[in-house]
Amino acid sequence: MMDAPAPTQAPLIDPFARTIDYLRVSVTDRCDFRCVYCMSEHMTFLPKKDLLTLEELDRLCSSFVDLGVKKLRITGGEPLVRRNIMWFFERMGRHLDSGALDELTLTTNGSQLAKHAAALAAAGVKRINVSLDTLDAEKFGRVTRWGKLDAVLRGIEAAKNEGMAVKINAVAIKDFNDKEVHEMIAWAGREDLDLTFIEVMPMGEMEEQERLGQYWPLTEVQKELETQWTLQPSGHKTGGPARYMNVAETGKRVGFITPLTHNFCESCNRVRLTCTGMLYMCLGQDDDADLRQPLRASESDELLHTAIREAIKRKPKGHDFDYSRQTVKGEVKKRFMSTTGG
Ligand code: SAM
Ligand code: SF4
Repeated sequence: MMDAPAPTQAPLIDPFARTIDYLRVSVTDRCDFRCVYCMSEHMTFLPKKDLLTLEELDRLCSSFVDLGVKKLRITGGEPLVRRNIMWFFERMGRHLDSGALDELTLTTNGSQLAKHAAALAAAGVKRINVSLDTLDAEKFGRVTRWGKLDAVLRGIEAAKNEGMAVKINAVAIKDFNDKEVHEMIAWAGREDLDLTFIEVMPMGEMEEQERLGQYWPLTEVQKELETQWTLQPSGHKTGGPARYMNVAETGKRVGFITPLTHNFCESCNRVRLTCTGMLYMCLGQDDDADLRQPLRASESDELLHTAIREAIKRKPKGHDFDYSRQTVKGEVKKRFMSTTGG
């Protein structure tokens, strides 16, 4: 196996001595779904002229790779609705070929996956996350407002046929999928998929009571699962925030992403780039850094590298999300999850 080249610059280390080697890139704020916890029904999207071009995104992401980023996750909005996005995946594939990047991954709603699975695999994508909160077609239509379950299931099948490992991400939603978690574990076992549950986060403007009404703490989900399944601790790590358990009966894993009940900020290794070139050092804080300006100011990457390093120096210790005492605290009102991606 080829030895990975050292980054061409010193690695990115934040004020809390965390090495930042994971970049998530939201390549579009648009989406073909309107999930109830993520977007409002009548979203206003950015004018297309405000988006970085795919060539600019290539240059930006390549700068992060130069500075030691080893893992790149492409997200959105729905990344597969951005025109010509496969060109961008192919371009990022060159960093896998050189060994500079360890992993290129994708988070998708799966609606367009059947069409793109072969090209993704050819670009070097080996693992993808597909978001799916229910296996009931009628409920799926309700939670996504616009989505079709069939298309997503076809997409998952196509990705598996291309040899990609598929992980399902399900937001745990009170009074919505709480009766279904056992069926989802059984289905994931049969389909050879890992499954991760996520706590709903207060991103984007929403009535406080509506948000609290959605919230189902994963401590309760785990307790419910343990009534029917044998969950054993697993040391499995993917570089992301999930904590995994093995499900003895299915041989697959179940993951828990618990920003509310168990804050995992101390091990945070990531930053997030939007499709307009804003860098968010924390999903749950408003501070951002404009990378578009230094990107466009010079053809050399020097200004950009300096701007990235300056931004990393401002990475905060963590988010302040909190729903205890039956109120929503620490919410990020102005930014929907689709801006910075999951
Ligand atoms: N459209 C793609 C998808 O749905 O996978 C990628 C972007 S989406 C914003 C990424 C992930 O964020 C999805 O798994 C989605 O369920 C999750 N998500 C969206 N809003 C959320 C919220 N308020 N709290 C927790 N997770 C959320
Ligand atoms: Fe779109 Fe993903 Fe948000 Fe659903 S969660 S509206 S699929 S961006």
